[in-house]
Amino acid sequence: MITQKLDISDLNPISLLAAANGEDEALNDVTSWDDFETVCGCNGVTKGTIMQAIADKNLTSVSDVTKHTKAGGSCGKCKDKIADLLSYALGEEAPTTSKGICGCTDLTRDEIVLKIHQKGLKSVSEVYQELHFKNPEGCSKCRPAINFYLNVAFPQEHQDEKASRYVNERLYANIQNDGTYSVIPRMRGGKTDPQQLLLIAKAAEKYDVPLVKITGSQRIGLYGVKKQDLPKIWKDLDMSAAEAYAKAVRSVKTCVGKNFCRFGTQDSMGLGIQLEERYEFIDTPHKFKMGVSACPRSCAESCVKDFGVIGVENGFQIYIGGKWRNDCSRKPFPYNRRNRRRSDRYLRGVS
Ligand code: SF4
Repeated sequence: MITQKLDISDLNPISLLAAANGEDEALNDVTSWDDFETVCGCNGVTKGTIMQAIADKNLTSVSDVTKHTKAGGSCGKCKDKIADLLSYALGEEAPTTSKGICGCTDLTRDEIVLKIHQKGLKSVSEVYQELHFKNPEGCSKCRPAINFYLNVAFPQEHQDEKASRYVNERLYANIQNDGTYSVIPRMRGGKTDPQQLLLIAKAAEKYDVPLVKITGSQRIGLYGVKKQDLPKIWKDLDMSAAEAYAKAVRSVKTCVGKNFCRFGTQDSMGLGIQLEERYEFIDTPHKFKMGVSACPRSCAESCVKDFGVIGVENGFQIYIGGKWRNDCSRKPFPYNRRNRRRSDRYLRGVS
C-alpha cells in the first residue's frame, strides 16, 4: 500500500488487514502486477522471475516454484500469490493446491491473522479450536507461526509461549549455513562502551569464535559459535540479544549527531536510543529497522529503513517504507515533546 501510495489514513487495523487479505482486488491481484514487482519479499523474487521459471521449467506446484526460485521458502506469506500465478500461467491445467500454512489447516497466513483479529483470539489453543484445525494440537510448523501471529496481534494480552518459539528465538542466536550460530548483543543506537567491548573480546577468545564482525546495523556480531556454548557465552556477555534473528523491531542505526559532528542539527543518537528502548522486543510481521541521522547527509541511511528520521534545522523529517522503494513517503515535522505522539502513531502504523 505504501509503494502504491494509497491513502490509508481512514483505515483501522482490521480494515487494513481486510484490504491486504483480498477485499481490495486491484491491490492483491498478483496477475495484474508488473513483472518487476516483488512477490516474495523475504527472498526478493519478482513476478517476472516466477513466471519465467514456470514457463521454462514446466513447474506445476507451489513447492516446485519454491524449489527453483526460493519464492515462498521463508515466511510463506506469498504462497497464495504463487498459487495464483500458477493458475494464471497454467489455466485449467493448474493443480488444485492447498494454500494452508501446513497440513493442519487450509487457511492461509493472512486468513488466520484476519480471523485472530476479528474473533479476538488470544491463545494458540483458541486458534486451533475456533478455526477448526484438523489437528487440534497443531504441528511443529504451525505452532510457532500461530504463537507469532498472536504476539503481533495482541502483544499485551497474549501470553507468549516460549516453547512455541522458533529455535533461533529460544537460543537468542541465528543458525548459520554450517550449523553454528551468530551471537549479536544489543547495543542500542549502535552505542557501546569499553566495558562491553572487553566482555565481547573476552568471550570471542574464550569460545574460540572464528569471526567477529560489525553488522550492517552497527552491532558487533560473533559468528560461528557452537550450539553448546550459547548459554555460557550469553552468561559471560551479560547483555541482552539484539534479536538479529527475529521478525521484530530490530536495531536502530544512528549517526553521531550534533554532539560530535559539525554538520549535526539534532541529537540523533539520543533519539535512536529512545526509539529502540521504546519499541524493542515487539514482534512485527516483518523485521523492522529504523535509522536516525542528524542532517540530510543521512549517514545512518535513514531513507532506506522501514522508519527513518533525518534531522533538519527546525526538527526532523520522517521517512516511511524506504526499504522497499526509493521514493519513500516523507513527513516533515519537528519531533519534540509536543509531536512525540504523532511520531509514535506513524511508527505504530508502519510496524
Ligand atoms: S548524517 Fe550529518 S550529522 Fe550525522 S554524521 Fe553524517 S554528516 Fe554528521
